[in-house]
Amino acid sequence: MFDFLIIGGGIAGVSAAARLSHLGTVVLLEAEDGLGYHASGRSAAMFEETYGSPSTIALNKASKRYHQTANGGVLSPRGLLLVGTEETRAAFARDMVAMAMEEISLDDARQMVPVLNTDVVIETGYHGEAWDVDTDLLIQNFARELRANGGKVLTGCQVQSIERTGPGWMVNSANGAMSARILVNAAGAWVDAIAEMAGIAPLGFQPFRRSVARIPAPGGLDLSNWPMMFGPGETWYAKPDAGKLLVSPADETPTEPHDAWPEDLTLAEGLARYEAVVTEPVTRLDSSWAGLRTFSPDRSLVIGPDPHDPTFVWSAGQGGYGFQTAPAASQLLADVLAGRPGELDKATRAALSPERFA
Ligand SMILES: Cc1cc2nc3c(=O)[nH]c(=O)nc-3n(C[C@H](O)[C@H](O)[C@H](O)COP(=O)(O)OP(=O)(O)OC[C@H]3O[C@@H](n4cnc5c(N)ncnc54)[C@H](O)[C@@H]3O)c2cc1C
Repeated sequence: MFDFLIIGGGIAGVSAAARLSHLGTVVLLEAEDGLGYHASGRSAAMFEETYGSPSTIALNKASKRYHQTANGGVLSPRGLLLVGTEETRAAFARDMVAMAMEEISLDDARQMVPVLNTDVVIETGYHGEAWDVDTDLLIQNFARELRANGGKVLTGCQVQSIERTGPGWMVNSANGAMSARILVNAAGAWVDAIAEMAGIAPLGFQPFRRSVARIPAPGGLDLSNWPMMFGPGETWYAKPDAGKLLVSPADETPTEPHDAWPEDLTLAEGLARYEAVVTEPVTRLDSSWAGLRTFSPDRSLVIGPDPHDPTFVWSAGQGGYGFQTAPAASQLLADVLAGRPGELDKATRAALSPERFA
């Protein structure tokens, strides 16, 4: 019998498994053939400290040092440029405050992004406190930590049924049965389905689809030092990625858990919002994809034991913040299970606890 059995091989499951491997024996089960196939393979890979609910921001802040330093660090500078037009004045003003941005001149903004259309763009805000995350490296670092402590990773291993036993849980998969004292539910969009399988009341998680198009570098320019650009009210964003530009409509379409793909119309609408503020038209898409951002009913993460059965542990509702929050969220999970106070304050721990839905 293992001490901890983790369901889900995205960033939530892998980071939790790494932290728990210091407390006991761990096995992680992932349905797909590799780690990070679903939401964790489709993100925009940003660390933006001011993004999310207050408890998410607390996790971002508590994760920053780990991101910067652990295993040599996974962050590289990017910066964030808020791009406002006549129509977005009110949302621009709100984002400037919420994201702690400084107003910069249109000339300065054009120095950063030469394709900005200053006939249409009337105001711009900037802050440098936003970084690219090397998401593959982060997942691999946590997986290496898990394996170094004797933890097991089983991919191609879909959990099919779960039974409560006297000392814990029996989990059945195509690869046979396994038992564990504690079950950690880190199944992303499928967390409520896993809870139902285990006879635990679902908490009402909702997956939302978000799409991304990768387009050639506008004007053939070198984008490497461009900041991420952002439409006020999160209506679109664009971010350099290995010599290309990722453009997202920032869509949030409710959907069932599934292997997500983008819809042409949604991509076209998002690209039009981006094109409206630049001088270079989009002539071609190199590729596109979509992923599911899964939120709890109050849009904050859910980390810790279920109030009705403490051997069933949630690591869920990572929404649009699963990478940036992973170091502190996984540390919180391990601290709660080890009975340690940890570094997060009491109010933040309460805002993240499953108890709030009891
Ligand atoms: C377009 C987009 C942009 C984003 N941008 C950012 C960003 O800039 N910064 C950021 O921090 N976050 C971002 N996110 C959010 C981030 O990607 C997610 O929060 C994070 O990946 C969620 O991780 P997860 O491990 O919870 O889910 P997932 O990565 O989906 O992992 C869950 C895993 O559970 C497995 N599973 C489910 N059921 C079973 C079963 N029965 N048996 C075995 N395994 C099972 C699935 O196969 C899956 O691999 C973005 C997301 C999207 C879609």
